[in-house]
Amino acid sequence: MDPSSNITDYFRLVPDQKAALKRLGLHTIHDLLYHFPVRFDTAGASANAAGLVPGTKVTLIGTFHGLKAKKLWKSRRNATEGWFEDGTGRVKVMWFNQPYIASYIPEGAVAKVTGTVGGKEGRVYLTNPEVEIIPPDMVGAAISSSKGLFANGETSDTVEVDSKSLFPIYPESRGITSRWFYHALERVFAQHVHEALVDPIPPDILKRYHLPDLAEALIYIHTPEKDTHAAAARKRFAFEEILTIQITRAMERAENDSFKTFPISDAHARANEFLDSIAFPPTKAQIRAIDDILKDFGKPHPMARLLEGDVGSGKTLVAAATAYAIVTARPPGRTSGTLQVAYMAPTEILATQHFQSFIEYFSHLPINIGLITGSGCKKFPSKIGRGKATEVSRAQLLKWVKNGEIAMLIGTHALIQKSVEFQHLAYTIIDEQHRFGTKQRRALAQKNAREGAGHSHILTEDCLTEGSSAGRNVGMSRAPSPHFLSMTATPIPRTLALTIYGDLDLSILDELPPGRAKIATRIVKKDQRDEAYELVRAELVKGRQAYVICPRIEEPDPAKIGALQARSAKAEQKRLQKDVFPEYEVGLLHGAMKPKEKDEVMKRFERNEIQILVATSVVEVGVNVPNATAIMIEGAERFGLAQLHQLRGRVMRSSHPPICFLLPETTGEISLKRLKTLEKSDDGFVLAEADLATRGAGDLRGGHQWGVSDIGMEALQNVKLIQAAREEAIRIVAADPTLAQHEELRMRTETSHTELHSE
Ligand code: ADP
Ligand code: MG
Repeated sequence: MDPSSNITDYFRLVPDQKAALKRLGLHTIHDLLYHFPVRFDTAGASANAAGLVPGTKVTLIGTFHGLKAKKLWKSRRNATEGWFEDGTGRVKVMWFNQPYIASYIPEGAVAKVTGTVGGKEGRVYLTNPEVEIIPPDMVGAAISSSKGLFANGETSDTVEVDSKSLFPIYPESRGITSRWFYHALERVFAQHVHEALVDPIPPDILKRYHLPDLAEALIYIHTPEKDTHAAAARKRFAFEEILTIQITRAMERAENDSFKTFPISDAHARANEFLDSIAFPPTKAQIRAIDDILKDFGKPHPMARLLEGDVGSGKTLVAAATAYAIVTARPPGRTSGTLQVAYMAPTEILATQHFQSFIEYFSHLPINIGLITGSGCKKFPSKIGRGKATEVSRAQLLKWVKNGEIAMLIGTHALIQKSVEFQHLAYTIIDEQHRFGTKQRRALAQKNAREGAGHSHILTEDCLTEGSSAGRNVGMSRAPSPHFLSMTATPIPRTLALTIYGDLDLSILDELPPGRAKIATRIVKKDQRDEAYELVRAELVKGRQAYVICPRIEEPDPAKIGALQARSAKAEQKRLQKDVFPEYEVGLLHGAMKPKEKDEVMKRFERNEIQILVATSVVEVGVNVPNATAIMIEGAERFGLAQLHQLRGRVMRSSHPPICFLLPETTGEISLKRLKTLEKSDDGFVLAEADLATRGAGDLRGGHQWGVSDIGMEALQNVKLIQAAREEAIRIVAADPTLAQHEELRMRTETSHTELHSE
């Protein structure tokens, strides 16, 4: 058995198990070793059955015996009695009024029980203890010898519960049990396969941060003897993951910095010209961000920058001022024409809105602006109606883009289709980048026609430094790459930004333009719901609009009675239309609708044909209806703080004072306290940090959308770890740019690197 061999070569599997492994993406023994338990059932026995002290609350691990239901003759109450044993002795257990309990705990079942010790010394018992049955497939782990699981390659077969064991629980997948993983890994460890793996983390780094080496960490993470071992192993694998991501980012950055771009002179003077032409002064934060970008324009390599700014902080102005400096610049060696800008928005509606804004900003300039979306193309100005845009054919628009006549092209992802080519694309701007993959981002970065205009040699000679990118593109005169600006309003914690955007420089808009009406956020208790509806109605009476956000699409699942059920968008839309707001039009928008239907509903909401939009969190990004001033969020405690902040950002688009109602389903202390943070703070970044600090690691599942695993997300709580990984990554890539001396790390980063060159 070796790490790269297939699991199926060594384990006999039934079809369900095969399917489950495939679903989990586990193919090789190496994959298996890197499939970590999600948690350890903390054995957490706090006492032994022998020597229980009356009046104390205890947790025991052991087995049930002789449970019997009976009727107490005096009170006529139902009762169940029996014994609970661990290795040290036994204690009497009893339940009142739970006649069926005996029927669902089988004789000899292994369980964890928690309760308060009753009786007196020598004659103690547990009444109505809580029971957690340990599933049979986990018992193997629970009852292994106290020397540590797999310590000697075999498990003890005496049925004695070791209360100090930690049982690994693997991510759930239909068809395969934690027990299967337990036994499979037992065999893998027994054959020392884990010792054959090359540790991707260089030994000096392991030493510097006191991290266990790979072989040791694998044992620790699957079969810890103590929770400090489990913690050390998790830290190590988190570091490994973050280091790999950071190295990929550092290499991407190095590659970016090896590309040539268009040099832009006098950018500052021209941007100032633009800023003088607008009605309001830019905020200090906007001035800083614009300055960061203009400075980058002066460098020989393309800018790669992220602009993070809360909803309404004025990112468009930063984009416009810097785009202005580009569309007023001549291509090198030319006496006519301009450099070009591409601006990509996440939705058709937003693209169209930005098209309008840029027409207003740039209408005095002798340039053409284009719009390209799935449903058509436009050009400004029109030949006939001065000051107006006109519809044009896609083919015509693309021709003008390619020959340089369109200075600025705005669009949805239709912008990155292969057929779209530019002549002198010098600047690409992406709004809400997290909606686009890295791959698409790169597609956009390489849109200049390579041949054609016949002036590429001028570029190379006059003004472009030759790329040093390790022999790539040798013999090919590569078209210059545009400067790249990504804009996002998604507040993410600093550690996460440093990790997933590690290849980008960062500018932050941490200030809102003055005169913004402050949002009032209120937590609505159960008995205040009607009051909240009346406050929303008062907005509607004034001609405004409202959102109602629900955590789920479908109606409650009748199979899950008893479980807490969140309100569904579909049911709420019906109810509100019929019972609460019959005099208004109540619309519905959710993620399972077709794009066309979604667009249609959003357009009707924009035109105020719909006054109340009941939606799932799909409205989080992209919907911009300044007339909407109220938002109600059902099941608010189900969302993260940053996400709630994003949602309420939908009504912070106008000068009317907006209101946000949070309607939690539960009244738990902790969730109320968390929601109160929103009443107090309206800084998205503060809230994102609060999210990271207050939600348990297990809640941070959202990481997958950024390609960060759960274990990696846990590490994001640890600023020092993230910084250390980043510094080490930059050091490694600087010293060994092709990772020739870091074979294992090179292989880890390969996937994303292949993607880099496939465009
Ligand atoms: P976002 O960062 O969410 O994209 P926008 O760029 O849409 O924000 O700006 C929100 C609103 O604020 C727009 O109506 C814009 O005209 C206005 N705005 C931007 N900058 C300023 C400023 N410095 N002073 C006043 N209003 C501004
Ligand atoms: Mg915006």
